Amino acid sequence: MSTDFLARCAQVVGDANVLIGDDAASYLTDWRRRFSGRARAVLRPGSTAEVAALQKLCVEHRVPVVPQGGNTGLVLGSVPDASGDAVVLSLSRMHRIRSVDPINDTLTADAGCTLLQLQEAAAAQGRLFPLSLASEGSCTIGGNLSTNAGGTAVLRYGNARELTLGLEVVTAQGEIWDGMRGLRKDNTGYDLRDLFIGAEGTLGIITGAVVKLFAQPAGRVTALFAVESPRAALDLLAIARQRCDAALTGFELISDFCLQLVEKHFATLRSPFGARHPQYVLLEISDPESEQHAVTLLEAVASLAFDQGSARDAVIANSLSQSAALWSLRERISEAQAAEGKNIKHDIALPISRIADFIADTDAELQRRFAGCRMVTFGHLGDGNLHYNVAAPAGESDEAFLRQQPAVNLIVHDSVHRHGGSISAEHGLGALKRDEIRRYKSGTEMDMMMAIKRALDPLNLMNPGKVL
Ligand SMILES: Cc1cc2nc3c(=O)[nH]c(=O)nc-3n(C[C@H](O)[C@H](O)[C@H](O)COP(=O)(O)OP(=O)(O)OC[C@H]3O[C@@H](n4cnc5c(N)ncnc54)[C@H](O)[C@@H]3O)c2cc1C
Repeated sequence: MSTDFLARCAQVVGDANVLIGDDAASYLTDWRRRFSGRARAVLRPGSTAEVAALQKLCVEHRVPVVPQGGNTGLVLGSVPDASGDAVVLSLSRMHRIRSVDPINDTLTADAGCTLLQLQEAAAAQGRLFPLSLASEGSCTIGGNLSTNAGGTAVLRYGNARELTLGLEVVTAQGEIWDGMRGLRKDNTGYDLRDLFIGAEGTLGIITGAVVKLFAQPAGRVTALFAVESPRAALDLLAIARQRCDAALTGFELISDFCLQLVEKHFATLRSPFGARHPQYVLLEISDPESEQHAVTLLEAVASLAFDQGSARDAVIANSLSQSAALWSLRERISEAQAAEGKNIKHDIALPISRIADFIADTDAELQRRFAGCRMVTFGHLGDGNLHYNVAAPAGESDEAFLRQQPAVNLIVHDSVHRHGGSISAEHGLGALKRDEIRRYKSGTEMDMMMAIKRALDPLNLMNPGKVL
């Protein structure tokens, strides 16, 4: 069956776009290289019509489909399982910016365009597409929408869902749904667009999208604040929001341990402060008026923060290169922690008002249970998203500590739940958190999700084993 099936796939996309053996290998392993699955083949369609034709073949032959964009996902959603039954359907050949409409302030793109491509196409028209992730050179807009990606500017512009007006989707049956509406108002029944966003490829294949554009800021200024504690960081956030409102576009928490890891593994990156401090906040203001106005706003924030005791020290970048250097301190944390060794990762969301209590309670509980464990805590504090990672105590092997992962996850995720949070803020559930989520969602919520899945994908061919 497989030979006949693949021969018919090749009739749709050409032999060169049915990859097997070594050619397929990089599509089968996840970004962090923790897991390699197996697949009948990797299929690389070049158009929406080809995606639909392939999907119809998969239905006919009952072949499961794993949609894949840039394969930068962090929860094993974009790679097939070990059975070898599925095909990987890669959107990587569908990378055309279809149009930019400066009057409607929208951009229309194929789902396989990289996020960087969208940012550059918007900038070429003097507009801004504000979604921004460290993986933007590789991840695709289709993957961003399927994971409802977040990133560093969510507090100002929202996550991928809030940036999207229209979608084109190939359904699980292989039909094409043209929902490419560039409308900011459309109350005509159930919002199908929002079902596919964040579905991690379990309901259909996103092949195109209409996204919102914004004004490029006239001035942008970045500062690093040294603060006493997460609670002081939240006080600083309140001041910054009060003074800057929509001009506040970045508010990232960095613990001193994270900064030390960056300094250890990147020789050119150094803390700009003479002394060490417990926590730091990277703050960015994007101003519609001018650079000078942005600096004035930032100085007002700093002055209030010092008066009220929320900040201990601050440095303001006074050039683009200084600003880039400050952002590098934040953006290199992921690589620095990887260079240090393996740790147990959590991508969590909390009501902003609960974050300080959450960190205090959960740090204490983890220390009681795993004395000396090292907390790698950083993240998008301005929107309530923390990367709350736990590394082995100094001197203990990573491998031994990783065996404690179920117990560590239970402590962290139960605490997240108690504080009214979510165990996946921006990475999704994939295969990694599929079973754990059942502990925290009610039976009613799981039943509604299952009903949607059964209605849209009754043969369970779309990315089976992920999310549900
Ligand atoms: C260095 C680094 C930094 C990161 N930073 C962030 C961050 O700040 N914020 C954040 O949210 N994420 C972040 N991520 C995670 C990742 O980049 C995002 O989840 C991204 O949105 C995935 O896009 P992708 O194209 O790589 O999708 P993939 O990894 O290929 O797929 C992700 C999921 O979407 C599905 N999918 C992909 N394309 C489609 C499609 N066209 N139709 C239907 N389903 C599809 C897949 O089946 C899978 O379930 C980071 C990752 C790395 C490696």
